[in-house]
Amino acid sequence: MNYGPLLEQTHQTWKVRAMMIGVSAAVLLEAVPLFFTFGKGAALLFSGLGAWMALISVVIAFVGIKCPGCGSHWMWRAAFQPSPNWVGWLRRQQVCPACKQLAVPSNNRWSGP
Ligand SMILES: [Zn+2]
Repeated sequence: MNYGPLLEQTHQTWKVRAMMIGVSAAVLLEAVPLFFTFGKGAALLFSGLGAWMALISVVIAFVGIKCPGCGSHWMWRAAFQPSPNWVGWLRRQQVCPACKQLAVPSNNRWSGP
């Protein structure tokens, strides 16, 4: 999947992928008690684990994905867009929506002295 030039150029696509995988795993954990018969305690455990995994995955993405130039949290910005398709919005961005800088890390080792 292509996450757009902003995330590609700043090498942050893995954070989005990690969030997707984490949320998918959380959904699976939530679904486990639906397909197997457990006691109430085990069902609650799976449900709780799933909720925590989803929460942690989303927090990592929202806190971790940011502009290397100004530190703006792109996921927060995307989440507050009027469009519900925040991934699409993020993919369309060519430059940082906050500082308008090109999405190139400041510690670019290829252009160093
Ligand atoms: Zn920025």
